[in-house]
Amino acid sequence: MTTWHEKAAALQADGRAFIGGERVWAKSEQQFENLSPIDGRKLGMVARCDGADVDIAVAAARAAFDDGRWAGKSPAQRKRVLVKFADLMQKYGQELALLETLDMGKPIKYSQTVDVGGAANCIRWYGEAIDKIYDEIAPTPANSLALITREPVGVVAAIVPWNYPMLMAAWKIAPALAAGNSVVLKPSEKSPLTALRLAEIALEAGVPPGVFNVLPGFGAEAGAALALHMDVDCIGFTGSTRVGKQIMQMAGQSNLKRAWTELGGKSANIVCADCPDLDAAVEAAIGSIFFNQGESCNAPSRLFVEASIKDRFIEKALAKVPDYAPGDPLDENTVMGAIVDAAQLKTVMGYIESGRADGARLLAGGRQARTDTGGYYVEPTLFDQVDSSMKIAREEIFGPVLSVLSFTDVQDAVRQANATQYGLHAAVWTADLSKAIQTSRALRAGTVHVNQYDGDDITVPFGGYKQSGNGRDKSLHAFDKYTELKTTWIQVG
Ligand code: NAD
Repeated sequence: MTTWHEKAAALQADGRAFIGGERVWAKSEQQFENLSPIDGRKLGMVARCDGADVDIAVAAARAAFDDGRWAGKSPAQRKRVLVKFADLMQKYGQELALLETLDMGKPIKYSQTVDVGGAANCIRWYGEAIDKIYDEIAPTPANSLALITREPVGVVAAIVPWNYPMLMAAWKIAPALAAGNSVVLKPSEKSPLTALRLAEIALEAGVPPGVFNVLPGFGAEAGAALALHMDVDCIGFTGSTRVGKQIMQMAGQSNLKRAWTELGGKSANIVCADCPDLDAAVEAAIGSIFFNQGESCNAPSRLFVEASIKDRFIEKALAKVPDYAPGDPLDENTVMGAIVDAAQLKTVMGYIESGRADGARLLAGGRQARTDTGGYYVEPTLFDQVDSSMKIAREEIFGPVLSVLSFTDVQDAVRQANATQYGLHAAVWTADLSKAIQTSRALRAGTVHVNQYDGDDITVPFGGYKQSGNGRDKSLHAFDKYTELKTTWIQVG
């Protein structure tokens, strides 16, 4: 059987953009190097798209939208194509998983299940949903009929980050395409390969040329040109809060395109002394912060443990940390892989240094690992005696670093948990039902977990309060972002 390393050696990644159904280089002929974080090896060159390419891709998307080659198809027809798209993603699943792991550094076992599996499931789910949604008739007087219908917004730009490249792309393109829009997707410059391959697969499934375009390139070039474009009707953005603010400004500066943002987080995980299953809480606290190398927007990076059980909790947690030692991402047994690039590695190491300097107590990790590979790896790191004023407790690190804080009663925990600009996820562990409900009501976050952390399903909305963003991905609610509501009044008699 061919090993993942042999498959990786044989892989020829195509870094050209995908516009109007064809692979093309940037008009400027500019390219950038794509390196693998696993070992620093060059994966190939990628088209460095800019405003000129954005103009061409948006024009292709607009033409495809206006002539109805996709928007004009019945929901059942779009469903058939999207379901085939999902089937083909699974057919090419190994190739997609390999591209994701080589490009971004995550373990191959999760690329196959979480990324390919999750993205294909998302495409299939929105495809399946679209021919089961009805419009409305308003209860108006008898001499009129008022129809409330949903229509696609038109040309949707999707700008996504590097941490779950294919999955974040799927969360945008699936509802947008199902609703009949045309899409221009800009993947992160750090991980463009799977998005480009998805566009080819969509074409093979029957998504007409021009309906789904992919432009790799840098944020300040291709990304900003999309956000400022006068003929883009809607932008679905996932990324940092810093850039999310710029996206909203650019939407306002240009054509007031609808701008939906899914941004950063600093999620609080509150473990009360009456936690019904301490081992499960430890497993979830550790597993969720170190999953995806800590590069998850909803990672529970602030762990609040009630003072009376903190020592016991930390002892159990420390016993688990070695299970997450970074390994070779192409080994099926590895659970923690490489940090996405040298810049992110430097950021993470800088936060670890600031934790030390601010007086937090380093209990595990704190160093780079596997340096002989030429890749970027960080040990799973645990700080105790963190207080809410420290930088590591306030800012999103986006790496495998857990800060342990403590609290005296649940009101104190909620106050500390809410004292952040972010509001993505939170959790509370308690056996007291009333306390669980009151605490989950008091936590200002888009998702609150009770006695678990990793609950996840395409059927539930995902998004944040406060500066974690303004939209919701996943679930039927995502259609709100990619459709306009139209009222049609009809005179009767
Ligand atoms: P980022 O904001 O640096 O980049 C995200 C995307 O925006 C990339 O494609 C980038 O090229 C582009 N971009 C950068 N500058 C731009 C500009 N001036 N104009 C237009 N586009 C621009 O974020 P990142 O480092 O790629 O991703 C990590 C961030 O994403 C974290 O903050 C994480 O929490 C967040 N995230 C949020 C969610 C969510 O659902 N809330 C999910 C995943 C990641």
